[in-house]
Amino acid sequence: MIVDIVNHLRETRRGAMFVLDGPSGSGKNAIMEEIIKRDKNIKFSVSATTRKIREGESEGNPYYFLPNEEFDRLLEEDAFYEYVESDYGAKYGTLKSEVDSFITVGQDVLFDMDNPGLLQMKERAPYDVVSIGILPPSIDELYSRLVKRGNNDEASIKKRMMQTFNRLQLMRTYDYVIVNVNLEESVGKLQRIISGERMKRVRQIGLPEFFKQLSKEAKKYE
Ligand code: 5GP
Repeated sequence: MIVDIVNHLRETRRGAMFVLDGPSGSGKNAIMEEIIKRDKNIKFSVSATTRKIREGESEGNPYYFLPNEEFDRLLEEDAFYEYVESDYGAKYGTLKSEVDSFITVGQDVLFDMDNPGLLQMKERAPYDVVSIGILPPSIDELYSRLVKRGNNDEASIKKRMMQTFNRLQLMRTYDYVIVNVNLEESVGKLQRIISGERMKRVRQIGLPEFFKQLSKEAKKYE
């Protein structure tokens, strides 16, 4: 009996929603790819979008592609945890059904998201969302990483530096911040955050049952 209840406790868990925000050049994508490769219990969230499908993409990869009317109908039904509209008028959103199908069976979900989406998520699922900011070791380092990539001209990179700094300021309110100096070290830090969050009481949904059992046992000693 004790073994059963302890196993039950181990197996019944509510998944967490790990939301990572970081500017391009912070190394966020490389960290996320490594986590997905190493941890079989964490999945990438597939968002829905109204933007046109591009070459090499397909339904569900990397988005669920929806007509605008369908997206708006879902918005009215409150089917999203969050959504944003791009400067080009395309909508992107996180479907509750997609995420809930994972977290209710104890699987964690990883999100790549900017601050506006993250704030909406945190408001709608305060106990499930864990916000993590990825910072470059310095603004100079971020600048040189972007220059090295070579896919932006210098003037546009410079213009982005101030916007980036303003975005970084928003991370002061996040649950965790990782300063990404070294990929392996940062992946290790994220793994430890994930392990700790998995042990939080609110995620151990078998606990009430376990307490009931302990209380029954305690009565024997009354
Ligand atoms: P793209 O159209 O190039 O795939 O993505 C454009 C932007 O939309 C990216 O910055 C991406 O992070 C953002 N994006 C994609 N899916 C979502 C989502 O579900 N929610 C939010 N808030 N942003 C998203």
